Amino acid sequence: MKTFFRVFRHTLLFALLTLLTQIGGLIWLLSLYLNRFAQKRRRIWGLSGAIFLILYTVTTIYIVPPVAKYCFDRVPLPAYSNPNLEPENIVYCFFNRNYVKPAFLKALEEVAEQMQEKFPGSTVSYMDANFPFIDGYPLEPHLNHNYGKAIDITFYWKNAKTGAPLRKSPSPHGYGLWAEAQPGEYDYAIHCKQQGYWYIGYDGTFASWCCNRKKYVFDGERTGELMCLIAAHPAFGRILIQPHLKKRFGLEEYTNIVAQDCFSARHDDHVHVQLK
Ligand SMILES: [Zn+2]
Repeated sequence: MKTFFRVFRHTLLFALLTLLTQIGGLIWLLSLYLNRFAQKRRRIWGLSGAIFLILYTVTTIYIVPPVAKYCFDRVPLPAYSNPNLEPENIVYCFFNRNYVKPAFLKALEEVAEQMQEKFPGSTVSYMDANFPFIDGYPLEPHLNHNYGKAIDITFYWKNAKTGAPLRKSPSPHGYGLWAEAQPGEYDYAIHCKQQGYWYIGYDGTFASWCCNRKKYVFDGERTGELMCLIAAHPAFGRILIQPHLKKRFGLEEYTNIVAQDCFSARHDDHVHVQLK
């Protein structure tokens, strides 16, 4: 029975690490193997966890990027090297969820630089992009982040009291702070909920645990500018955003900007952009 629970625990951990980071499950197995050798000499509590952390970090920083580049034509989005284009949370980089095709990186850097002309100091903050390896490999819980050609970019917010623009989204993971439909605008989220898709706002529940929505107001000026730059860039194909925002930002002429299906998560907290 003890062995059964041990195998079950490791299988669960392997699955979770693979889902979250693509390479974490394999590195966990390697850590267990190395741990067995080390423990033969002397028992050290927590050694397998320490081996995993060191191996995972070294692999993520030094091994994954060159292999992704030369074998799968994917490069990591900047973690700290470009102040105009940064992760909303560094965890996206540490979990290897920040890989894209080189042409996609170039286009995103161009948009981030163009943002500086009108709003100096405004960072384009990205969340989930793609894993480094294997075309078609899914990046959960997303449906279209499988080929190095998709990215989620968060919206801009302001401090409700002072009106000061915030550098990053108040939501620690960048998702879940809604720029809801205003009176008179078409509310696609309500339409989807009426169809029975009650779960589409689960990101908002997670966000509400960490930040109080009432303290912030949506920065339509900066977000509108970012959306116009994204819409006008020739490298981008399908773009997903909630219909009321497409209309609010005057983007109706762009047929590649569409609403996601009702069974997908809401897109009035971020925009999903795909490379052509
Ligand atoms: Zn997406």
